[in-house]
Amino acid sequence: MSSNNPRLTTSAGNPIADNQNSLSAGARGPLLMQDYQLIEKLAHQNRERIPERVVHAKGWGAFGTFTVTHDITKYTCAKVFSEIGKKTELVSRFSTVAGELGAADAERDVRGFSLKFYTDEGNWDVVGNNTPVFFIRDPYKFPDFIHTQKRHPRTNLRSGKAAWDFWSLSPESLHQVTILMSDRGIPTAPMYMNGYGSHTYSFWNEAGERYWVKFHFKTQQGHRHYTNAEAAEVIGQSRETYQEDLFGAIEKGEFPKWTMYVQVMPEAEAEKTSYNPFDLTKVWPHGEYPLIEVGEFELNRNADNYFTDIEMAAYSPSNVVPGIGFSPDKMLQARVFSYADAHRYRLGTHYEALPVNRPKSELNHYHKDGAMRFFTNDFGNPDAYYEPNTVEGSAKEDPSVKEPPLRISGDADRYNHREGNDDYTQPGNLYRIFNDEQKNRLHHNIAEAMDGVPAGIIEKQLNHFHKCDPAYAKGIADALGVEFKPSEA
Ligand code: NDP
Repeated sequence: MSSNNPRLTTSAGNPIADNQNSLSAGARGPLLMQDYQLIEKLAHQNRERIPERVVHAKGWGAFGTFTVTHDITKYTCAKVFSEIGKKTELVSRFSTVAGELGAADAERDVRGFSLKFYTDEGNWDVVGNNTPVFFIRDPYKFPDFIHTQKRHPRTNLRSGKAAWDFWSLSPESLHQVTILMSDRGIPTAPMYMNGYGSHTYSFWNEAGERYWVKFHFKTQQGHRHYTNAEAAEVIGQSRETYQEDLFGAIEKGEFPKWTMYVQVMPEAEAEKTSYNPFDLTKVWPHGEYPLIEVGEFELNRNADNYFTDIEMAAYSPSNVVPGIGFSPDKMLQARVFSYADAHRYRLGTHYEALPVNRPKSELNHYHKDGAMRFFTNDFGNPDAYYEPNTVEGSAKEDPSVKEPPLRISGDADRYNHREGNDDYTQPGNLYRIFNDEQKNRLHHNIAEAMDGVPAGIIEKQLNHFHKCDPAYAKGIADALGVEFKPSEA
């Protein structure tokens, strides 16, 4: 051992004299059970894996910096936006949705787009996608939807039949399906795609006025995507292209950047829009609610350890800061519960205390004990383990950060989320933005994805596309080589 090398130990710190050979009774064996070094090594390896995320298992990420470039303090008192030039550290994670941890990166799928801003008032997480909308608007259907994207229980294969069966019975999915099957369905790497908060959140300002808000992060690298054929070729050569490209760019000092914008709607206007502004299957048209520039972020530091910094980075829409709040969006409420719940299951009770998740600001709470507790929070006095208390220096609530009341009313019921919604106009609007080549690729991507799907399901789905735009259905029918006559209904 050279004097420069630290001494190898067990995890209890006991020095190790021989790290090459196991302990046996004679050179030919058998091994002795008292070889704790060997047992510790094998037992630890058995525990190296944690449950992968049920959705968004395959991911890539890096650390970065957000900088405010424009003043939006009239909308929000969130300190992260308090002055032009203000910088906030963040950690990002991008992902595919359906594939498992070892899935190929360049697959056609929605991409997760998550940012954790380490603000002065705790972590603010934007847990969005590279699309502004989602397949469903009622979270009650989320587990069913995800089951159609994952493996069939018997074949253990992905099932196009299940996906299109569900979509054809859920026309609210048309908008997201159109984006997924369009050119933007396979970005070439995370740097070449936009991010969207997707949900409607709210802002409130110093005066206690509330605005509904949508978050947009536009790539400064430009959009780049693969066709199905290009993706197949890329995947044939490497399944890890996103990690290679993102990690490689940052290592070379080519820091990717995104411009942040918000769309802002005064609180009372939500009553007047022709669409439900809290419906996750809808966008707010830019013509009605223009993009307001806020700032930009760059990714400038790779993780030193992928597992501790990216795999264990735990994002949750429940992490909001004073000045940013929720909205009536049903999908958002479900995610406020389910993301934190998933992390407690996957990472453990104290997942927020892990270095990548720990806020960089003041952190004071009275939660006690639990598995793997490794910190104290007694404010320097062991008597301060409940609240209210008379202990000098213990943490107290701060009414100055109180959110203005969220004005909502209604009768509790299981409202039919498929009634009274226009599922066709907005996907049709997107379709009509595409040029002929983009439309042609869209038609063929959908036809390819329908391979092996029963004719009845295809017909139902073509009727939905027809209601978005007759040319949309016709283009797909032609690509499929089938006759299509829209039904009367
Ligand atoms: P605009 O003409 O003002 O903007 C069109 C939007 O479509 C741009 O944001 C553009 O993103 C985006 N876009 C272009 N190609 C694709 C694609 N293949 N997949 C997803 N988005 C794409 O439109 P409107 O605001 O009036 O909305 C029209 C339609 O545009 C909507 O129905 C919606 O489908 C889509 N869209 C709207 C967004 C919104 O928040 N209003 C956001 C994203 C899409 P970029 O500027 O980066 O090129």
